[in-house]
Amino acid sequence: MTNHWFPAYIGLGSNLQGPVRQLENTFGLLDDIPGTRLIKRSSLYRSAPFGGVEQPDFVNAVVALMTCLSAPELLAELQRIENERGRERDDVHWGPRVLDLDLLVYSDQIIDKPELKVPHPGISERNFVLLPLAEVAPGLNIPELGQIETLDVNSGEPAISRIG
Ligand code: ATP
Ligand code: CA
Ligand code: CA
Repeated sequence: MTNHWFPAYIGLGSNLQGPVRQLENTFGLLDDIPGTRLIKRSSLYRSAPFGGVEQPDFVNAVVALMTCLSAPELLAELQRIENERGRERDDVHWGPRVLDLDLLVYSDQIIDKPELKVPHPGISERNFVLLPLAEVAPGLNIPELGQIETLDVNSGEPAISRIG
């Protein structure tokens, strides 16, 4: 835990066991992380699965947090929440899951370790991340990528719609 507050953006995804309810519950769990406040949540978005695995549609969202935790401490809390929601650790990569929490952006930090890459490497090619992220953080300047509005949301692929 640090003495400072840092902004952090989290990507949420679910396509099992009532994805809308999974995400609604998770907003509260994120606000309950020690030294952390949920500042803003995006709408929910429904997106077609990507990565070639046959599976149900995903529901996605992004939240803005302010946190006194370091990036690795915050990631550990996200993984604790995933596990408590019944996420199986040996899930197929990009396969179906009850809850996926990705640390998208942490302040202006750049981290490039196998267990923690920030900004998250998938941001720039995933409309189901870019659209909700731009909704909670218009004008966000993402380290190494630039201002969010300048990134191509590639709006047709995978198919995505706002569901409220
Ligand atoms: P992707 O990361 O491409 O969205 P995924 O979410 O399906 O794929 P997971 O199986 O959830 O991948 O995570 C695999 C590993 O990624 C985790 O063990 C974690 O340590 C690592 N990881 C690296 N950077 C991050 C990050 N920014 N947020 C979350 N996990 C990360
Ligand atoms: Ca992910
Ligand atoms: Ca993940």
